Amino acid sequence: MVAKLREHLSTCQPTVYIFMTAQLIDGNTIAAKVRARVAEAVQARLAAGKPRPGLATVLVGDNPASQVYVRNKRKACAEVGIESFGYELPKTATQVEVEALVAQLNADPRVHGILVQLPLPEGLNEERVLNAISIYKDVDGFHPVNIGKLSMKGREPLFVPCTPAGCLALLEDAGARFKGANAVVLGRSNIVGLPVAMLLLHRDCTVTICHSRTKDLPAICRNADILVAAVGRAEMVRGDWVKPGAYVIDVGINKIPDATKKSGSRLVGDVAFDEVKEVAGYLTPVPGGVGPMTIAMLLQNTLRGAEHADCAG
Ligand code: NDP
Repeated sequence: MVAKLREHLSTCQPTVYIFMTAQLIDGNTIAAKVRARVAEAVQARLAAGKPRPGLATVLVGDNPASQVYVRNKRKACAEVGIESFGYELPKTATQVEVEALVAQLNADPRVHGILVQLPLPEGLNEERVLNAISIYKDVDGFHPVNIGKLSMKGREPLFVPCTPAGCLALLEDAGARFKGANAVVLGRSNIVGLPVAMLLLHRDCTVTICHSRTKDLPAICRNADILVAAVGRAEMVRGDWVKPGAYVIDVGINKIPDATKKSGSRLVGDVAFDEVKEVAGYLTPVPGGVGPMTIAMLLQNTLRGAEHADCAG
């Protein structure tokens, strides 16, 4: 009888859930902590007579969003004592010219990190430009060698892409337990989805990667202890897709119309925040979640590049 009851219970789905409002994972505060640590380490380097870390930014063309991103990155560098060197090329720049600039920066000892702002203007081969960056200065972590090492067991890439590293830092700060957790990553892009999935795998999660051809996303998501949404679809993840108590990281940045705003629009993530906050245990807001972490991780990677250069002599 007891055995029968046990068997019955083991197949039962829980019918009562206690819904609580999720705890917000505050990316601004966590990023500020990272930046403060980097600033401290930079000061310690200088006091020890070591060179100031340097980041070179390469902006090709006049994409206004890219100009803002580069400006913000350089401002963040200045705030933590990292020197930034801004290089701008016209949108008519040739492949040879862009690669020649990268080669010049590879050889410049003041530069410990090279950031080529993407997307590049049409006609330029992005893959070839990224391949040209020295793997020791690849602070975006997009070089195939660094991504390859990230995808292999027992290998350590020198740099991990910034947004994925930021997602992991947010989960760690929120106290997520990785070992054996079911992690679901929505999106498989080279810059977010794929590297996030690899990082979670290295932390001993059981990882499911979903994409535009995945069948029955809600059912897969409901099994996730950790859910990372990086699809670029406004508020796609609904409340009833989420396991009660799950850690939910919303990477998406989507602009939607909002007549109540002066600008006529507002930013939302890939997660329906108001619904999901009633179910998840922990949740990142948009804005103020993953976004601030991306730049903080870039600063951390630049510092790492400088530390690597110390060892390499
Ligand atoms: P991509 O467009 O490169 O990749 C999107 C991924 O989502 C693809 O793998 C795609 O599948 C998948 N996808 C698209 N639609 C669906 C769907 N309906 N169901 C399931 N999967 C789907 O985007 P990114 O990875 O570059 O960026 C994702 C989001 O993150 C964007 O909103 C972007 O703005 C944001 N972002 C935020 C950053 C930050 O700092 N906070 C930094 C970088 C990005 P498939 O491969 O089959 O096409």
